[in-house]
Amino acid sequence: MRGGSQVKVAPMDGDPTIDAQGAKAKRQGGATRRVPVLLPLPLAGPYDYAVPEGWEVRPGTLVAAPLGGRMLAGAVWHGEAEGSVPDAKLRPLAALLPAPPMTEPLMRLVDWVAHWTLSPPGAVLRMALSVPAALAEPRIRAGVVAAPGLDPATLPKARAKVAEVLAEAPVPWAPGDLARAAGVGAGVIKAMREAGLLLSVALPDRGTSFEAEPGPPPVLSPAQAEAAATLRAAVARGGSGATLLDGVTGSGKTEVYLEAVAEAVARGRQALVLLPEIALSAQVIERFRARFGAAPAVWHSEVGGARRRDTWRAVAEGRAPIVVGARSALFLPFPALGLIVVDEEHETAFKQEDGVAYHARDMALVRAHLTDIPAILVSATPSLETLANVERGRHARLHLPERHGSAGMPHVEAVDLRATPPGRGQFLSPPLAEAVTETLGKGEQVLLFLNRRGYAPLTLCRSCGHRFQCPNCTAWLVEHRYVKRLECHHCGHAEPVPEACPECGKEGTLTPVGPGVERVAAECRERFADHREGGVRIAEMSSDTIHGAQGAAHYARMIEEREVDLIIGTQLVAKGWHFPHLTLVGVVDADLGLAGGDLRAAERSFQVLHQVGGRAGRAEHPGRVLLQTWAPEHPVMRALVSGDIERFVAEEMGERRAGGWPPFGRLAAIIVSAPEMPVADEAAAALRRTAPEGEAFRILGPAPAPLAILRGQHRRRLLLKAARSVDVQALLEDWLSRTEVPRAARVDVDVDPVSFL
Ligand code: ADP
Ligand code: ZN
Repeated sequence: MRGGSQVKVAPMDGDPTIDAQGAKAKRQGGATRRVPVLLPLPLAGPYDYAVPEGWEVRPGTLVAAPLGGRMLAGAVWHGEAEGSVPDAKLRPLAALLPAPPMTEPLMRLVDWVAHWTLSPPGAVLRMALSVPAALAEPRIRAGVVAAPGLDPATLPKARAKVAEVLAEAPVPWAPGDLARAAGVGAGVIKAMREAGLLLSVALPDRGTSFEAEPGPPPVLSPAQAEAAATLRAAVARGGSGATLLDGVTGSGKTEVYLEAVAEAVARGRQALVLLPEIALSAQVIERFRARFGAAPAVWHSEVGGARRRDTWRAVAEGRAPIVVGARSALFLPFPALGLIVVDEEHETAFKQEDGVAYHARDMALVRAHLTDIPAILVSATPSLETLANVERGRHARLHLPERHGSAGMPHVEAVDLRATPPGRGQFLSPPLAEAVTETLGKGEQVLLFLNRRGYAPLTLCRSCGHRFQCPNCTAWLVEHRYVKRLECHHCGHAEPVPEACPECGKEGTLTPVGPGVERVAAECRERFADHREGGVRIAEMSSDTIHGAQGAAHYARMIEEREVDLIIGTQLVAKGWHFPHLTLVGVVDADLGLAGGDLRAAERSFQVLHQVGGRAGRAEHPGRVLLQTWAPEHPVMRALVSGDIERFVAEEMGERRAGGWPPFGRLAAIIVSAPEMPVADEAAAALRRTAPEGEAFRILGPAPAPLAILRGQHRRRLLLKAARSVDVQALLEDWLSRTEVPRAARVDVDVDPVSFL
């Protein structure tokens, strides 16, 4: 365990107020008052602590508590103290933390997620207390302003420059920013302060504020207006209940849910909008800013340091009315939450795979329920889970029938690679290459989609057949040509591309097999070189080239300003973007997502490809989508070409229902891993021997996981497949408690798995 949740806190000084309970304890002759405290560690449950005399604590109070030699931030938990440690041995709480207490619904969410995922509650609490620095006294950031009467004309050059900046922008400045803006050294600012030319003031917090006038809301179409009114009413009424808001990309779903957000804010409540991490683009955040007059608080893994602390605190103190965030935003300490929106609810990025394996969409529904507020699930291609909940009458549904304004749906065609294969060493078939040429000729933009980073997914020796494998994983090494390396996409192992084959020693025999985005870019550079003087302008968009939100914004601007002709991208470009001049989308390998036989392969493929296709023709120009496939008769391709979502969904639902698969049955994966293969096998066999038996469920496996070795760990999988009536958690808890596995083996449980690797 890393020390991430350790805080340095000074004990409270001064006299904390004495509440009635404390006073009573005193009168009873000093009997120790004890409370359960949940610590952010993977412990079985809360520990008891003594409450120093006179301290006022209640469930949710954030405290510093000693554990071993460490001081941890924890929360006084609800429920009874455990009571087994005698009073004399009980350690006292060290400090009350100067942060708003955790709310009852958030404590219940922590318990719920822990129960659902079979995780220790402290491991879940850790996500809710993920910013220890925010629990301490807010640090006051010192800024400077001009002293009255500061006049550049009377000052030497460096000081005059500072005074000029302050005359132009008379606001509190951080000293470093001011020095940079004036082009002077930090010492100048310091000296001016000491000379009384600058005055120290507190800088405002970085939380969000709503000073600017919000932009005018759009004039909604009748269908949009009706949906918006329904959602506004639900927010105004309060009370729990989830609504699916669906409709094709561009139908105005975002505009509609922004209305519901506006209603929550108008009522003094907070709104949380969850997005898959990759969709947190500058464009999306800009829409919130335009609609509400101020940027929303943004929360995802990249938000760090002081901003993370300030945002956490702004949320906790109710100063952040709107939070737009990735899945971890679900555990933020909202005191007045009034609405949760889950945009792109079908996205698998909402499922956390490491540590506490929770699904943020599902747990968002839980949080909304516990808080007694409405939830909105938004998607052009809803998950079957959500659609099944609509069928069962658990969720309401609002449907937007068509694209907004004049934009029609793009025309989707399958390119049969059997009939028109690409040339040797190429990956664009003649029909796709032709369409690219034609589109570029009209001055419009093209997006080629291939969900694979790097140059080639496999490198082999033409002479001896040697394949480059990861030494730590059951995976091939992917060539990344720009950095001249072979990389494992699972563990990060990287090695230089050798001159000679390490197996047979021959030189010049190594051959790339298959395409990644780098290779498609190379092909395009060559094939469309004549498009303009200096060559076709290509933007390669993948996590290798785009670093962070700023990088993404940079690309977005280049594309909007037509400094780019051709975009070649991975899943990163599939959503959240709106490029008005993009009219052709080519899917290089539409079959890619169907391989592997995963339960949701077809559903997910359909969702991703539909989403990518939705990037085409969003403005006045009609769009076109070409899907390169070896199997045009596959139901996914047929559904994409016909646009008949309903029929595809009905067929998929039929198959799932017949097989008892989710959403009509329940699954839990048990993943065993160990550094030695026999240990993994032994642990898996032990689980098999103790496996429960019953009518309403089956246990499949053990079998080697598709990624049989990952980061040097040998992996075996078992799968519990149960009817919906089965209490999966109880069954698993009982099973695991009865099983002894070798110490060197590790057992992970994944309830409602989305990955089967
Ligand atoms: P979705 O979320 O369904 O993909 P959006 O809300 O992003 O759809 O709408 C697609 C585009 O159409 C956006 O640029 C949006 O601003 C615009 N739009 C949608 N509805 C309206 C409207 N009623 N008035 C003006 N513009 C609209
Ligand atoms: Zn690896």
